[in-house]
Amino acid sequence: MADRYAEVAYTNGYESTAGSGYQLPEYPFHAPPEIASGEASHHPVVIVGGGITGLTAACALAQYGIPAVLLDEDNTVGVKGASSRGICYTQKSLEIFERLGVYERIAAKGIQWSVGRTFAGNDEVYSFDLKQQGSFNLSTQPPFINIQQFYIEAYLVDRIYELGHVELRWKNRVTAFRQDNECATLTVSTPAGEYHLRADHVIDATGCHSPFRQWVGASVTAKKGDDRWCIADVRFSKHPPVERHTWIEAPFNENRAVWQHLMGDDVWRIDYQMAPDSDPAEVSREDVVRERLARQFGADAGIEIVWVGPYAYRSECVDRMRHGRVFLMGDSAKVVSPFGARGGNTGIADADNLAWKLAAVLQGRATPALLDSYDEERHEAAQQNVLVTNRTARFLRPAAGVEKLFRDAALSLARQHPFARQFVNTGRMAVANPYTRSGACDATGGQSVQNVAFHWPDGSRGTVNDLLRWAQGRLLVLVFGSTSATALERLQDLAATAPVRCVQVLGPDDLAGALEHVRDPQGHLQGACHVFGHAWALLRPDSYVAATGESVDASLVHAVGRALGAAIEEEPA
Ligand SMILES: Cc1cc2nc3c(=O)[nH]c(=O)nc-3n(C[C@H](O)[C@H](O)[C@H](O)COP(=O)(O)OP(=O)(O)OC[C@H]3O[C@@H](n4cnc5c(N)ncnc54)[C@H](O)[C@@H]3O)c2cc1C
Repeated sequence: MADRYAEVAYTNGYESTAGSGYQLPEYPFHAPPEIASGEASHHPVVIVGGGITGLTAACALAQYGIPAVLLDEDNTVGVKGASSRGICYTQKSLEIFERLGVYERIAAKGIQWSVGRTFAGNDEVYSFDLKQQGSFNLSTQPPFINIQQFYIEAYLVDRIYELGHVELRWKNRVTAFRQDNECATLTVSTPAGEYHLRADHVIDATGCHSPFRQWVGASVTAKKGDDRWCIADVRFSKHPPVERHTWIEAPFNENRAVWQHLMGDDVWRIDYQMAPDSDPAEVSREDVVRERLARQFGADAGIEIVWVGPYAYRSECVDRMRHGRVFLMGDSAKVVSPFGARGGNTGIADADNLAWKLAAVLQGRATPALLDSYDEERHEAAQQNVLVTNRTARFLRPAAGVEKLFRDAALSLARQHPFARQFVNTGRMAVANPYTRSGACDATGGQSVQNVAFHWPDGSRGTVNDLLRWAQGRLLVLVFGSTSATALERLQDLAATAPVRCVQVLGPDDLAGALEHVRDPQGHLQGACHVFGHAWALLRPDSYVAATGESVDASLVHAVGRALGAAIEEEPA
């Protein structure tokens, strides 16, 4: 056990032990054909990085039928021994994974939770039950699932192999890059030698050490603090309740913070805040870890240590997420502290956002201008997530002076007064970020649509994701309520000339017209689309509303054009 903790260093954004108590799959290396031929091949899309972000992008592109190549320098999931990182996946991510066909496996392996409690000393100072919050309870996916990140990555790999279209190249490390008007050229190093690839579009999903930042000249705003943490992933013979418990001041951790979550395989993630700038080797030594666990759970808790990893974090955001042919996504675009689970979840959303746009452009449904909205939308999200996580980090490791005074006052008030509980900040859980400055959405759009249920005409249950799959990468026009003959005619004309599919969404008493229709007896679909009464909503393949309106008129045609990069092109025959 001792040498598992031997190679320890805080060397980067997510510093962790090099050892691993988890068994990870290993994927085969095949010598790329370019090495034998000496010719560089050309691809519409090359994805660099097979972490959760790159694999989500690859899986989404595969589902849209877009050929691509994914290059990863490693031959497994998890990152260089830091195999236990993300654990908490939000409803929006789970909805994306449902669309991609990996949700069932995640739900079977992971743990659903909705109750969170926060303690200061022995007092509960904040609690929530996400199932009671209207914003979470309509989706067919739960508010959160806890599961080790590497499981999701492995499920995505299996699904990509199943779908085809995307070639996964393991042990392929990109070592150089350049781009010009014609294409991007990547130099790739492998155990069988070096070769070149050309690409029209490159997705940089290489994580927080992205070499592309330098290659494309991206500037980065960065902040690094002295806060230090140490993870212990453990099994118990008698275990605590399946709730997220956080302590801001834990009496059993020298009054510093502690997190406690259950993940898959009956493994608990216990996350301990350490003294500022503490020595990673010292805090992760087995005897020190065991003593810490015994202080919290008692000497007789029957603890088996599965994995230990000390980490520090930093906060970073690139100035732009698109540089010519390169799209930065996930940790290569921004790095946030883990509080609120905003790292991986936003990488997943980045991937889902770009994939349908690339598919729409490459399959001739949208103009290349649509790709600019990736930066407009996801950079806004990245900045928001950096802001929110920085606030939490300052609450958990306040600077001496005003920040510390504020935290002490908030905790002391929260002990007695419910109104003050909102100031207690142990992490604002990740949300589907709204888009307010996107060229592809108008002022009525930009919100995420939950994967709610409705009835197909035969009475069977359907979901928003079923509709999106049926639309096959096209936009969906949902028209709520009975519609005039003129409006129906306009919708049919629209569907005949633009890459959209139109569906009437009927209440219990509404009459079906000539269009495809579904029934929404409880109004869940309408509520999820953020419209009321007689209205239409233009839904994108990433389950975001591009625009809404009342009358089926020129405003809808304009919104469709805008959502596809401002020009409507004919579908290829
Ligand atoms: C303690 C901790 C807890 C966390 N908890 C959560 C959580 O609960 N929920 C959540 O959503 N997020 C969480 N996060 C954040 C989450 O782990 C990261 O945001 C996520 O891993 C980022 O994924 P990525 O795919 O963008 O990058 P990475 O996971 O870093 O993947 C990058 C990939 O690129 C490959 N690569 C790098 N360079 C090259 C190259 N030159 N050529 C080819 N391949 C290359 C690497 O091999 C790797 O596979 C947590 C992080 C930490 C440290």
